[in-house]
Amino acid sequence: MVQLPPVSENRGLYAAAAVTAAVGGGLLLRRALRQTKPLAGPYTPDTLPKGAYDVIIVGAGPSGSVAAYYLAKGGARVALLDKEHFPRDKICGDAVCTPAIHILEEMGVIEELKAADEVRFADNGGFVSPSGLSYIGDSQHKLGTAAACAVRRIDLDVRVARAAQRAGADLKEGFEVGKDVTLDKAAGLWTVQSTDGKTVTGRMLVCADGSTSRLATQLGYCTAPPQGVSSRAYIEGGSHNANFDGLVFYPRWSLPGYAAIFKHAKDELGFCYYLIPCGNKAQTGQCGNCTADDLKRLHENAIKHDPFISRAMGPNPKCERMRAGSLRVGGQGLTTTFDDHLIIVGDAAGFIDPLTGEGIHTAMMGGKAAAEVLLACREAGDFSKRSTRLYEQRWMELFGHDFKLSQKGAELIWRFPILLDACANEVQRQGDAMMSKWAEVMTNMRPKTYFLRPDVAIPLGFALLREIWQQKVMKRPDQYVMPAAAKQQEQQHAVSGAPQAGGSSSPARRRRRQRRRRRRQQQKRQRGRGAQAGYQ
Ligand SMILES: Cc1cc2nc3c(=O)[nH]c(=O)nc-3n(C[C@H](O)[C@H](O)[C@H](O)COP(=O)(O)OP(=O)(O)OC[C@H]3O[C@@H](n4cnc5c(N)ncnc54)[C@H](O)[C@@H]3O)c2cc1C
Repeated sequence: MVQLPPVSENRGLYAAAAVTAAVGGGLLLRRALRQTKPLAGPYTPDTLPKGAYDVIIVGAGPSGSVAAYYLAKGGARVALLDKEHFPRDKICGDAVCTPAIHILEEMGVIEELKAADEVRFADNGGFVSPSGLSYIGDSQHKLGTAAACAVRRIDLDVRVARAAQRAGADLKEGFEVGKDVTLDKAAGLWTVQSTDGKTVTGRMLVCADGSTSRLATQLGYCTAPPQGVSSRAYIEGGSHNANFDGLVFYPRWSLPGYAAIFKHAKDELGFCYYLIPCGNKAQTGQCGNCTADDLKRLHENAIKHDPFISRAMGPNPKCERMRAGSLRVGGQGLTTTFDDHLIIVGDAAGFIDPLTGEGIHTAMMGGKAAAEVLLACREAGDFSKRSTRLYEQRWMELFGHDFKLSQKGAELIWRFPILLDACANEVQRQGDAMMSKWAEVMTNMRPKTYFLRPDVAIPLGFALLREIWQQKVMKRPDQYVMPAAAKQQEQQHAVSGAPQAGGSSSPARRRRRQRRRRRRQQQKRQRGRGAQAGYQ
């Protein structure tokens, strides 16, 4: 018979078992108690006043139109309001990631885009790392589907809005929502007025009016303007040298921001330069070593002088004038995304990924999640925040849980650009297998934690050692350097006192240089004091 040791000898073991049981039990209890359905309430569909809507959606971009489509399909009365008339342009890189492609397929929009030759699926693509390692591969045959496609927003948004309209949503174009937006709490009804005096009423309000969201700001849910920014310019088909579908460039001077080229239908190119909020002052517009003021210079220098981008552009690209738009990343500036009778979605809620600057797919996923929750609320008759909170739970599960890690990732590659070189090194070694993993993580098909899995992290660790060896010991020359003319411009910019962009040194190296300079000055002062005191 097995003899158990006396209790006193096993105290540690029992304590560990008790803690494990308590933590496990706590988690199970939390999961069991977690609310999964809206509560019952008084506002069932039969109580809706004549002429009122179940849901009023402000903004018919990807988030608002997708929400309207699924709500209308589910039988709700929906008003979809937009200040513009469609088709209208939206400044964007036009790269639509896989989760959005799936939603567009469900809505029948992909078929329409294909038939009209307005979409190009990215069969091959890749990236260029800060030290100039590059890889262009074919991830599609590994993934079985394209990781992204490119569609001009002027073509995409009109089709998504019309799909919502066909599903039964009441699309009101040229309806600019003004300051008069009020909730009658007793009646459970919003009244929304346009700037020219038209009025709609409804049980729920969905703010989907984009990154500067006037609505969420005036209602007090958004407390700061968006801090990220990106440029865009189209390049006429046939006037460039790009022989790939999509390529991302990480020049070290604008990290964690990056430049990207996507090929559209009819051989046209879309070029964007993203500046991603990062650093101690990210809340006030710091984007690594850059600010929004640097965008125009970076964009134009990249097209003319960047060793990789200018090669893809060719000698005479027919390039349109640069335009820019703001990026609200990782929920920046938002106090909440739900309240009584209210939901905030898409860019208005800061659904842009803090590492990639992309937000069409999260806008659509968020729009669909909002519709699912609101249909359940409508059936239960409750639109209080005790029920609408299910929406925040849902978008956090879908993609929001990734935002913190994306933010950390952006911070890391800004401080240690060699990490991106290590990724490029490993992609070069493994080829398309690794490229497809990279593409899946960057397009939200897999969470960022995927990079922490041992089978991914260990090879990346070895790649990092290889890069340290080659860059620090073997002194491999940096291949991502600007030619002299552009460098001079960057130096003038640095002298003028603005944050340095375009320099080839990393923040860590700059700090080391500053420390050395301070030490030298201190030694000089000490020598001076010593000389005065007659010690030398
Ligand atoms: C330069 C740039 C490049 C980008 N590149 C990419 C990319 O390549 N891939 C990607 O996934 N994401 C990209 N993004 C992000 C992407 O554009 C957004 O995440 C996406 O458009 C969010 O959709 P949305 O429906 O939330 O908002 P929006 O698309 O901004 O739609 C908001 C709608 O609300 C309407 N509206 C605003 N105010 C009112 C009002 N008062 N009354 C009525 N209507 C109103 C507007 O007219 C608009 O139609 C980029 C962004 C920028 C700025």
